[in-house]
Amino acid sequence: MIKFLDLNSQYQGIKQEIDSVIKEVIETSSFIGGKFVSHFEDDFSSYINAKYCIGVGNGTDALEIAIEALDLPKNSEIIVPANSFIASSEAVTRTGHRVIFSDANAEDYTIDIDDLKTRITSNTSAIIVVHLYGHPCHMEPIIELANNHGLKIIEDCAQAHGAEYKGKRVGSIGDIAAFSFYPGKNLGAYGDGGAITTNNESLAEKCRKIANHGRLSKYDHEFEGRNSRLDSIQAAILSVKLKYLEEWTNKRIKAADNYLIELSNINAITLPVRQDWARQVYHLFVIRSNERDLIKAELNKQGVDCGIHYPIALPKLKAYEYLNQYNEKGFAWESDKTLLSLPINEFITVDEIRLIGQVIRSAIK
Ligand SMILES: *Cc1c(COP(=O)(O)O)cnc(C)c1O
Repeated sequence: MIKFLDLNSQYQGIKQEIDSVIKEVIETSSFIGGKFVSHFEDDFSSYINAKYCIGVGNGTDALEIAIEALDLPKNSEIIVPANSFIASSEAVTRTGHRVIFSDANAEDYTIDIDDLKTRITSNTSAIIVVHLYGHPCHMEPIIELANNHGLKIIEDCAQAHGAEYKGKRVGSIGDIAAFSFYPGKNLGAYGDGGAITTNNESLAEKCRKIANHGRLSKYDHEFEGRNSRLDSIQAAILSVKLKYLEEWTNKRIKAADNYLIELSNINAITLPVRQDWARQVYHLFVIRSNERDLIKAELNKQGVDCGIHYPIALPKLKAYEYLNQYNEKGFAWESDKTLLSLPINEFITVDEIRLIGQVIRSAIK
């Protein structure tokens, strides 16, 4: 059995530290806010190299609050890649804007710059760049487009903790960024959690207020906000896990290197491209094949977990029928039929990767 993720083995390796911080939070009764949350916010902003970090309830809230804080014109258009998790586009609609889907490129699967250009109109106010599967988007041309058209850049970093574009950590490049600490993410809590990072002080303050009832002080409120706070137990767990993130990430990168060797020269599959300017942190290792379903069935039969991210491209979802944007045969719109995510985590061994290679080779013979 080769697991997609192994959160229990990860916990066993850091059990003492985790158990002791959980106990400390409970014994000090600092359940909401307080030092555990502010320590984590400081640690995470240093890790990302962003000036400000605001802990929030989850990654979806992080996106929503970030968009709200930008104060964009009502009903403006925000461009979102077609191949992502629904949270990326949900946040647009829920903050009163219109989703415009753009294509993904067929190499690293992040937003396709040429296609993106064609989606910009006079109503466009922002671009959500998703550093998908852990691969950073090609930020320079995106920044140039944003500057030329007066657009804001929101980075969806839910899958890319520690990823770098030309040496800069994602989450420190656009106007504002959203992270998720859902348990299965590269940095995952033991429940829901999220964060917003930015270098802009007034945006950071606005986000902090939105996430905490528009609060100025305990019972004085500047405007109506909401309740979306990072829980102290989760913050304490995340501070422990953050210390190991680089080690775990380097193991994922090593595993990916091994996959690239073991899976080379198989005609029926296309391997993911790591651009030379990218530090790809491999939240997922995604291959592409017309024989995807056959390969997946054979891997499952041999006890190898795999996944499809995502089985239905966003514009094709029932939730977006009303937008009527699924009318072209671009890459991403059809990517759902060919993409396959192989297991990757800090525990997978060279032998396991070799076995996966053998299963794939024999499946497509
Ligand atoms: C996980 C994820 C989110 C949402 O994060 P939650 O913490 O689950 O709300 C947003 N965008 C992408 C690309 C994700 O993978």
